[in-house]
Amino acid sequence: MTIITRFAPSPNGSLHLGHALSAIVAHDRAKADGGRFLLRIEDIDGGRSRPELAAEFRADLAWLGLEWEEVRAQSTRIAHYDAAAEELKAQGLLYPCDCTRAQILAADPVIGPEGPIYPGTCREKHIDPHNCDGPVAWRLDVAQANRKTGPLIWEDELAGPQTARPEMLGDVVLLRKDPDTPASYHLAATLDDAADGINMVTRGMDLFSATHVHRLLQALLGLPVPRWHHHSLLLDEQGRKLAKRRHSPSLADRRLAGEDGRALAAALRAGQLPTGISCSK
Ligand code: GLU
Repeated sequence: MTIITRFAPSPNGSLHLGHALSAIVAHDRAKADGGRFLLRIEDIDGGRSRPELAAEFRADLAWLGLEWEEVRAQSTRIAHYDAAAEELKAQGLLYPCDCTRAQILAADPVIGPEGPIYPGTCREKHIDPHNCDGPVAWRLDVAQANRKTGPLIWEDELAGPQTARPEMLGDVVLLRKDPDTPASYHLAATLDDAADGINMVTRGMDLFSATHVHRLLQALLGLPVPRWHHHSLLLDEQGRKLAKRRHSPSLADRRLAGEDGRALAAALRAGQLPTGISCSK
């Protein structure tokens, strides 16, 4: 089977070293098997996306010496996300939610791997989405979805077989309130990976818990199940994940300053990291 991987950056900030590592891992994983490496611009967040960054990302990847095939950006796939959400609504697995973030926090929620777990306030409320003061989000009823699919397994090629535990993230939002960002990351990325034929999802360990939800969505929507490869993360001096906003310089800064991108890629491959940066193992 031809390995197909992808790098899926969101164009709401410049790429940094952590992204370079992610792109290199995906690229090299595919090329090691004579496979294909795809670039997908995840511009689902209409409010935060900066279209000009897509060109910057391509220049960064070329500077690192990577070769890729680009597939359709998320902003062109909204109808696909809506159709899948309708299918889940028809299965009775989504419910409307009008809670604000402040209301959720006021309920003193359990904090999960991705932040506060939704306390389920709207699950039994049976809100009429057409008769609400404002827009509603649509959440996945995870307990019901779990009952429907039964136990699910997924495979990370580094960490081994995993039992899906989507309840760890609670009833995640699949359709957001914000009309600029209709689908959530979980729904959009899961559908796109299937549509793009991705059979090896490579990404950082920070998204390991999201995979439990993606595996559930695949089962509910009858999508093919890829394998995953969650790589270790680059960390700053304080042991925190390198974040776009916190860390400088970006790849574009380095490229424009005349640094050798291929040499940087070789150093990252060899685990030789710039001063002050470490790798979670
Ligand atoms: N667009 C996501 C990000 O930039 C990619 C997540 C993924 O690889 O699944 O974090």
